[in-house]
Amino acid sequence: MDFLLGQTEPLLAIRGLGKTFGRHVALKTIDLDVHEGEFLSFLGPSGCGKSTLLRIITGLERQSAGTISQGGRDISALSPVGRGFGILFQSYALFPNLTVRQNVAYGLNGAGQEADARVAELLEMVGLPGIGGKFPSQLSGGQQQRVALARALAPSPKLLLLDEPLSALDAKVRVHLREQIKDLQRRLGITTIMVTHDQEEALAMADRIVVMNHGTVEQVGTPGCIYRHPASLFVASFVGKMNVLPGQVTGGAFRPHGAAAAVALLQGVREGTAQLCVRPEDVEVSVAADVAGVAASVESVEFLGAFTRLRLVVPAWGGVVLSADVAARQMRDLAIGPGAPVWIALDPARLQLLPGDGDA
Ligand code: ATP
Repeated sequence: MDFLLGQTEPLLAIRGLGKTFGRHVALKTIDLDVHEGEFLSFLGPSGCGKSTLLRIITGLERQSAGTISQGGRDISALSPVGRGFGILFQSYALFPNLTVRQNVAYGLNGAGQEADARVAELLEMVGLPGIGGKFPSQLSGGQQQRVALARALAPSPKLLLLDEPLSALDAKVRVHLREQIKDLQRRLGITTIMVTHDQEEALAMADRIVVMNHGTVEQVGTPGCIYRHPASLFVASFVGKMNVLPGQVTGGAFRPHGAAAAVALLQGVREGTAQLCVRPEDVEVSVAADVAGVAASVESVEFLGAFTRLRLVVPAWGGVVLSADVAARQMRDLAIGPGAPVWIALDPARLQLLPGDGDA
């Protein structure tokens, strides 16, 4: 995709954007490009500023500093109506006294046969044909949110902004609707920004994820890049499960604090304090003594269906406790339980070293 290669002019260019509420700094100097046709997700913990950033893009909130340009034109001073972006919030926000048809038509200019045909097309598009005569109270939460999506899409906006659109729904509906939204976004090719605090949702839906923390952007990248190469300890720990081993790099080898043995030989890394990050699925576990591995013992076993999460104590690495995710089939072969001795190995290609002691 072009936008992943950075070859296209951005649809939206955010430069030096800041926002303060009284003395509270909600956003600090955000620079971000949003490319035509991409699905971007703002991901971060509660209070990191993602909704504020989205609200500023919609025009519902005014920034304290910086600019937003659309196709090279500064739109910072435009009202939400002037910007004309499609918006979908967590709460369905449908008019309860209007039918589904009237709710969707609300987003269209004009009435008559043409509008009726467009409403029918939009309802078909969100998988709800023939419910135009119903009232919102007669629909499930998931259906109401799809009607709200149809309304947001009605005027064919250049940009669709979604603020936690799935968080009010139960788990099953959520997963179903996220597939539908993603599918629709792909078919329409509509540029979309979605705010979420749910990393699984961001990984599943987004082309690129903007990870935010304390009013700043920590990292922007594809889901694979964010997951495989987190740029900071915050990203490493917020997106997915990560083992983090504090230690020291000396002579090209990493040694966890208090360890008798080095973990792995790494090339081209800076000497000094560092954190070694490894995903639980990248910790290889075996029961046969392995020259490339290190001895560990199983502290606990957590059955999680498709895989089992083991907690492993590694005496040679200073008694560090690592999580290892073992696929169900391999777990049957290993046939181990708490207290069992095992061997573990870490593939150097799957390790990520972050500098510093993690206090920053
Ligand atoms: P959540 O997922 O909980 O909605 P968020 O990442 O979207 O969190 P924001 O809602 O953008 O966070 O809020 C960022 C910070 O700005 C928070 O500390 C919040 O308390 C503060 N804030 C947001 N809106 C206002 C406001 N209108 N007045 C004062 N402070 C605000």
